[in-house]
Amino acid sequence: MEVKLCRINGFCSGVRAALELTGEMLAKHGPPVFILHELVHNESVVKDLLARGARIVDDPEGLPPGSTLIFSAHGVSESVENRARALPLNIVDATCPLVRQVQRRGAALSAEGHTVLLFGKSGHREVEGILGRIRGEKILLTGPADAEAFVPNPGKSYACISQTTMNSADVAKMAAILRAKIPGLVDSASVCHATLARQDAVRELAADCDLVLVAGSAHSSNTLRLREIAAAQGARTELVSSPDAVTPELLRGAKCVGITSGASAPDSLVNGILAAVNRIAAGLR
Ligand code: SF4
Repeated sequence: MEVKLCRINGFCSGVRAALELTGEMLAKHGPPVFILHELVHNESVVKDLLARGARIVDDPEGLPPGSTLIFSAHGVSESVENRARALPLNIVDATCPLVRQVQRRGAALSAEGHTVLLFGKSGHREVEGILGRIRGEKILLTGPADAEAFVPNPGKSYACISQTTMNSADVAKMAAILRAKIPGLVDSASVCHATLARQDAVRELAADCDLVLVAGSAHSSNTLRLREIAAAQGARTELVSSPDAVTPELLRGAKCVGITSGASAPDSLVNGILAAVNRIAAGLR
């Protein structure tokens, strides 16, 4: 059995920066430091933060005065930010700069009078944060089917933007569908560079492998997109959130196993999965 590691693994810059900022706050203020929602979508990273004294909250109300509250890498809406800043808290913003860029672009396009079409997954924190920065009309389109079904109003002008971790092929498809039916559409939809690079890398990996293990969590959007892209290449795919999940049954029949990881999966998880696969492969030889 051949084992291939994806050429891009490990934290993206936004996740790394959010974790470093949280580490600095823990060192400076001591525990507990509060985080509004999960800092990043990965169980082992969150478990580690909790063990170091971080506490995850869903609402800034009721925190002890003077506490440090960190906004997660996914960003927050304007109303959530304003409400938190009105409280006697030390607010630390770990929103990824690339997410903030999309938030600002959405707000600016709206201020220019466009109805903003956001490509994104319903209910995702990043999507809620972006929508909550757009004061004018906005419409969420969750995939190519929504773009196909969308009926524009000829009296309105439209602009499109995208959640940073969408499938880049879907974003391109959705923009093309909308351009064909909306003359003058302002197209600002694109995924972030980290997402794009990872998706390209997994596409290459999956083309060579019959099984692709995707390290990460089931509630991580970028991780699920990697799995989707590997599957579209024809590979069997498995989401693996712990090295313990790698069993001989999981690998059975595979001639080439590829390993990739979401942008919020730690190196320790990828290395653990690689070691487990190599152990099993050695036993099968
Ligand atoms: S996936 Fe992109 S936008 Fe999201 S945290 Fe990472 S670098 Fe930032």
